[in-house]
Amino acid sequence: MMKTLRFTTLPGDGIGPEVMEIALTVLQKLGNLHDFSIETSNHDVGGIGIDNHGKALPDSTLNACKEVDAILFGSVGGPKWENLPPKEQPERAALLPIRKAFELFANLRPGNLYPELSDLSPLRADTVANGIDTLCVRELTGGIYFGQPKETKTLDNGEKLAIDTMVYRTSEIERITELAIKAASLRDGRICSVDKANVLETSVLWREVVVNCVQKHNPDIELTHMYVDNAAMQLVRDPNQFDVLLTENMFGDILSDELAVICGSLGMLASASLGTQKNSQGLPFGLYEPAGGTAPDIAGQGVANPCAQILSAALMLRYSFGLEEAATAIENAVKETIRSGLRTGDIAQGGKSVGSEEMGKSILNRLQ
Ligand code: NAD
Repeated sequence: MMKTLRFTTLPGDGIGPEVMEIALTVLQKLGNLHDFSIETSNHDVGGIGIDNHGKALPDSTLNACKEVDAILFGSVGGPKWENLPPKEQPERAALLPIRKAFELFANLRPGNLYPELSDLSPLRADTVANGIDTLCVRELTGGIYFGQPKETKTLDNGEKLAIDTMVYRTSEIERITELAIKAASLRDGRICSVDKANVLETSVLWREVVVNCVQKHNPDIELTHMYVDNAAMQLVRDPNQFDVLLTENMFGDILSDELAVICGSLGMLASASLGTQKNSQGLPFGLYEPAGGTAPDIAGQGVANPCAQILSAALMLRYSFGLEEAATAIENAVKETIRSGLRTGDIAQGGKSVGSEEMGKSILNRLQ
């Protein structure tokens, strides 16, 4: 029976709607080739949510997301809304409540650099001659960003004291490790768990739980451990030593941005945030979005790179719909398009470039 993929599309602001439209065309064509159909509806989020409904995450948008198996997200924000108070800023007021509503505890960021684009990386040519292919799995809802107490107080001598608290429980470490194990088993089967177990109690527990969890769920995974300071160095020295990098919230925040910059262009990078809830497919509910923002400097010109949005759709097929072959088909079509020499402005390095639509068509034509 033909599978129907039910998800919402939240294109957002700036280049969001431009690249989302292209990603949907790719999904529709892929459905014909891989025997699935898509059932999706568009909803306002971010700045356009504020303009049309007075809220970055309108209730109607959130309710629509609760009815489906995944969210394909564009990006939100832009100069029009940047003078709003921080709490009302589109990014914060849209993404944080979504993360909370769906308990999105895992962030997956593929660090992909195709060999043809290796000149875009700030790393030495011989380090990235064969490109980069690694995946950062970051815990998203625990650790020092959320631990209590979190406060600033004034001491008797007038000096101020600020406290953040790093907290992890076994169950939080287990669920992210299980996810990393699944992701690694779809790749090269290697996990490097990053911690600071020489100084942090949370890291000692992290390491212990990761070891037990791998032993229990898939002892065939090759598991190694690395201190975060070393991991930051190793990532620039030889990023390809890593298959899956597994790490807690703050370390992952930093390392995943480092990974993004060494991969050269935001226009090529996708990301997935997976939740605790299972969708109707028995797979994690997820939010899938490009790593970059709304690119106000090029919005409305039809020149944005649609690859990140299209690759986010591939991640949705993989993790929320279990369609590994279809996901790989998208990734291969993007790879082939880059190999053919076609470039949008952000990756053209001063050479000839094409618009978003032509890039999208080329990817569409290479789907198998
Ligand atoms: P940005 O990622 O939007 O842009 C940084 C640079 O990368 C720009 O030069 C832009 O043109 C380029 N770029 C990004 N994506 C591209 C693509 N697909 N194709 C071609 N070039 C691309 O970051 P910024 O300028 O710091 O932020 C702009 C707005 O986006 C802000 O309002 C910010 O809050 C918002 N933002 C939203 C998200 C999100 O929705 N998750 C993430 C980051 C930034």
